Amino acid sequence: MLLPQEVIRAKRDGKILTEQEINFFIKGITSNTVTEGQIAAFAMAVYFQDMTMDERVLLASAMRDSGSVLDWNSLDLNGPVLDKHSTGGVGDVVSLMLGPMVAACGGYVPMISGRGLGHTGGTLDKFDAISGYQTTPDNALFRQVVKEVGVAIIGQTGDLAPADKRFYATRDITATVESIPLITASILSKKLAAGLDFLVMDVKAGSGAFMPTYEQSEALAKSIVYVANGAGCKTTALLTNMNQVLASSAGNAVEVREAVQYLTCKNVNPRLHDVTMELCSEMLVLGGLASDIPDARKQLQAVLDNGKAAEVFAKMVTALGGPADFVENYDQYLAKADIIRPVYASQSGIVHSMDTRAIGMSVVAMGGGRRRASDAIDFAVGFNDFIAVGEEASSERPLAMVHVRSEAQFKEAESALQQAIICGTSQVDDAPQVYRRIRLDDVK
Ligand code: URA
Repeated sequence: MLLPQEVIRAKRDGKILTEQEINFFIKGITSNTVTEGQIAAFAMAVYFQDMTMDERVLLASAMRDSGSVLDWNSLDLNGPVLDKHSTGGVGDVVSLMLGPMVAACGGYVPMISGRGLGHTGGTLDKFDAISGYQTTPDNALFRQVVKEVGVAIIGQTGDLAPADKRFYATRDITATVESIPLITASILSKKLAAGLDFLVMDVKAGSGAFMPTYEQSEALAKSIVYVANGAGCKTTALLTNMNQVLASSAGNAVEVREAVQYLTCKNVNPRLHDVTMELCSEMLVLGGLASDIPDARKQLQAVLDNGKAAEVFAKMVTALGGPADFVENYDQYLAKADIIRPVYASQSGIVHSMDTRAIGMSVVAMGGGRRRASDAIDFAVGFNDFIAVGEEASSERPLAMVHVRSEAQFKEAESALQQAIICGTSQVDDAPQVYRRIRLDDVK
């Protein structure tokens, strides 16, 4: 007979768990027959003893199967079902553009996104900034929007990977989040439950990344590629640069504004464009919608230039309850802060580096993110017109514009930004936005 404590003991002693043991433990998490203490002990055992790649495939699959798995076959879609997921960043507004761009090129993107976590922003919070937009539609509406528009970006429903919800809540309070096998299974359980044919992972590396070092980001990317493919979803990962705020803005309404301006070709931040195009092209190639990366880039640029991607975004917003003229009149619908004012560097110079995590935390401190899961968000606050690494900060070029509610908040944000952005006198070499691409062949 299997007992939770025997599974924990086996892992504690460094044994490789069997499929039966893993399934038993995950079923126990879902049915509440495994206690919180047992989940914590199991997580700590995995943290110290690790898991083989094949154990990780079993764990992710068991967690996927703890709830319902979406099925898109019955919709008879005439294109691949695919998605992108990011490990989280600051100013990472990519999903808002990527979903419509890929849909405009013939893909179907049922994107189930999350809320902000720690210092990183969440796609779901950005959509909540659009008045009327329903981030929790019923399954019938979700399916209808995916079929008719090609993309629907919504929040997670309770019946997708319920084991992860309980497992993560315990990891969060027992110092066991930072385990590559557990992160891999947690992220993938939700993505696999969305019934995708293809997935592209954006694994961030740098001062604003979830993983503390480049090597650990790379190890996570390799683990995700191996495990997702092992569980039946063709997946590639891109390791991307999170050593500075990705977009020109960080916050909720400010990022939505930038996304619309990007889709309408009014304001294209080159870093954001680079990362978005790389992720989108990988999706088109993986999903068979483009013959190679140059072909994919050509198609993607065309749907930006001819307005098709912006049109898809507008249709998605309307279909999910948002304003019909959102793309044209977004400023009428997005919250605005009372004070919008520049912050200057305490000493002029060329921007050498950014503590991107600190910048994300400063958005949280303003009320643009959550300290506790139950906190309400102030959509209006944040930064825009961010300076880039290599640019010169001076009395003419502020570090950013700050959007806040009060003078006290302004002072706090000003001081945080001045400390987070380091200037010097020498020139800075351009860093790549995409460090490397990890395909299945790279991890076998
Ligand atoms: N994001 C997740 O969804 N799960 C983790 O374990 C870590 C980050």
